[in-house]
Amino acid sequence: MEIIFFIAGVITSIVLTLLFLKKNNQSKKTFLDNEVNNDKNKYVTWSNALNLIKDQIIILNKNKVVIYANTAALTRFGNSIVSTHYASIIRDSNFVKAINNIYNNKKNISVNSEISLPTYQFFKANIYYIEQGFFDENFSIMVVLQDLTELLKIEKLKSDFVANVSHELRTPLQSIKLGFETISSGPAKDDKEAKKKFIDIMLNETNRMDQLITDLLTLSKIEQEEHKRPGDKINIRDVLNSVSSNLQTLSENKKINILNHVTENCFVIGDYNKLVEIFYNIVQNAIKYSNSNTQINITQFKNTDNVTIKVKDEGYGIPKTSIPRVTERFFRVDPEHSKKIGGTGLGLAIVKHLINQHRGEFHIESEIGKGSEFFVKLPLHN
Ligand code: ADP
Repeated sequence: MEIIFFIAGVITSIVLTLLFLKKNNQSKKTFLDNEVNNDKNKYVTWSNALNLIKDQIIILNKNKVVIYANTAALTRFGNSIVSTHYASIIRDSNFVKAINNIYNNKKNISVNSEISLPTYQFFKANIYYIEQGFFDENFSIMVVLQDLTELLKIEKLKSDFVANVSHELRTPLQSIKLGFETISSGPAKDDKEAKKKFIDIMLNETNRMDQLITDLLTLSKIEQEEHKRPGDKINIRDVLNSVSSNLQTLSENKKINILNHVTENCFVIGDYNKLVEIFYNIVQNAIKYSNSNTQINITQFKNTDNVTIKVKDEGYGIPKTSIPRVTERFFRVDPEHSKKIGGTGLGLAIVKHLINQHRGEFHIESEIGKGSEFFVKLPLHN
């Protein structure tokens, strides 16, 4: 009997030990599982955060291989960049120098750089040394690429604009200077007729400079106000009548007939003076760039909520490739001809901005030797 109790005791303690060991094992497994889950959660959290950032972010390991790229970087360089050496993505010498620098000195660094593939990009690369590396690495390098391509374009536009204005002003100024020299001490000093000729040229050039400055100031004012939509109720018929009569002398001098077919009331949302400026520029161009004994027709088509006014001339026409460019500042199809007739190259740029301000649309059709059609679509005042 004692032996039976003894054997039962041994069996019970074995079973209890086994149960204890099993429980212990189980709790250890759960702890490990939690750790893995925590790591996963941490990865998801910081990766989600980095994916929200518009800058392209890549993380490199000690071998300069990409171990992580956020969505912006994957979109720019493609999914295959992960696990590749950084130099297969960006080879720019400034960037390569900066990367080598940070691996040697462990100090954060910023550098301007550019890449041309898959498309051109100018960027500022902020490169950080991270002591506790990602994914259990000893250290990591984080590269944040800030895209400055658009800013660079704006800077270029600005400097092109300054260069253009300087050039446009310098040309008439040089003529004026030459005129003064010729009549004060040059060959025309004692020649009355020659003197008058030079004074006329100087007056012309002064007017050109004056017109250029007026147009530049107008353009800059319109650009500042472009977001403010004018809201008056304007009869477009009155606008077109005023434009036709203001340009009557100019058109008659060139024996060009302006036929304004807009005789009905037609109310648009806008600003009277600005609408006059739009159509004055378009009709004046139609006169300037047409031969004598031709016609200019002004017509309108009304829809439920807008009206399109068409100005059609029988002039020189515009080459197809130049049509999209005529609204650019200082663009002229024939610069010499435009300057000779007093053009500043800013008229259609002003027209385009004024139409935008009216929330309208501008469209041009043209054929060399046959003439041009200028369409201005404006919202109706219902
Ligand atoms: P510009 O002061 O030179 O007339 P614009 O901005 O008004 O400047 O026009 C730009 C260019 O577009 C002109 O130089 C001319 O080459 C072309 N252009 C404008 N209107 C016409 C037109 N009706 N027919 C032919 N060419 C035109």
